[in-house]
Amino acid sequence: MDIKSLSLEEMEPLLMELGLKKFQVKEVFSWLHQKQVESFDEMTNISKAGREALDKKFYINFLKITKKLVSSLDGTIKYLYELRDGQMVESVLMHYQHGNSLCISTQAGCRMGCKFCASTLAGLARNLTPSEMLDEIYTAQRDSGEKVNSVVLMGIGEPLDNYDNVLRFLRILSSKEGMNMSLRHVSLSTCGIVPMIDRLAEENLQMTLSISLHAPNNAIRDQMMPVNKRWNMDELLTACDRYFEKTGRRISYEYALVGGVNDSVDAARELGRRMHGKNCHVNLIPVNEVKERGFKKGSKESIRKFANILEGYGVTTTVRRELGSDINAACGQLRRQQALEGES
Ligand code: SAH
Repeated sequence: MDIKSLSLEEMEPLLMELGLKKFQVKEVFSWLHQKQVESFDEMTNISKAGREALDKKFYINFLKITKKLVSSLDGTIKYLYELRDGQMVESVLMHYQHGNSLCISTQAGCRMGCKFCASTLAGLARNLTPSEMLDEIYTAQRDSGEKVNSVVLMGIGEPLDNYDNVLRFLRILSSKEGMNMSLRHVSLSTCGIVPMIDRLAEENLQMTLSISLHAPNNAIRDQMMPVNKRWNMDELLTACDRYFEKTGRRISYEYALVGGVNDSVDAARELGRRMHGKNCHVNLIPVNEVKERGFKKGSKESIRKFANILEGYGVTTTVRRELGSDINAACGQLRRQQALEGES
């Protein structure tokens, strides 16, 4: 059994069955999530018999760093991790003035099929467990010697397609006996699985919800994102309004500008009209060119112009700074490359 995926409440009866006292369960939890040990033997305040019983019933998950790339432009670090069964995922550690942010994966692969994304090219292999998501953070911290101050669920995978594990991960991450990270420092990004957005709203977490919008209307979004055929933009945007009403958290919309596809003046105006009056934030991203996808980045001028038009509609707009552009830091590119190298 995977002990690092258990919340403190879940751990309690299981460990007490093995003869541990209630206060010791807390200690085990903090060994795992604060001191982040890799073996039961390191839990020196637990008796030898207790440690042996734990070792018999549970394993402590760990990730292996298969590749580490450091950007010479901005110090961004990209990790390619190997999971226990040989699957690979990526995390990216970015340095900002306000602290260090880690972008983590939530699935090995993805089944959402977005046309511009490298993560989905080979489909979904499997969901990540809570411990694997936590270990993306713990391993990056240990290796880099830097503290992770905020976490974005924007790596490989669709977090709302792995709902239960992601929620469990968030609970452990924010528990005071664990890393004690405020969920205000966490963003979850989704391509728009509407029923799960409603479910998430009910959890009433103080997390930021990011929506990968990428288009001003259904005609364009249908071409880019198959999920739009299941839940269209109107359904998505009304679910987002409900989310805001319920949680009071401002939604962030991601818009990757693809030259000749969604970056025209008309597209900007249409988006401006739709977003006008919403309490939201639009983040424009120059699309990362993925070899297999054939999409091209919009020009710097077209991005600036797009932003100006949106601002003209009173929409708060930012243009994302590109980090780690020399190390293939975009979503899924390293995992993809490794898989291709394995084939040849
Ligand atoms: N599945 C989730 C989270 C993972 S993708 C989602 O769709 O939001 C994280 C973000 O990277 C999303 O906004 C996604 O649309 C964007 N993205 C994927 N491929 C990209 C590319 N080639 N260039 C720019 N952004 C990309």
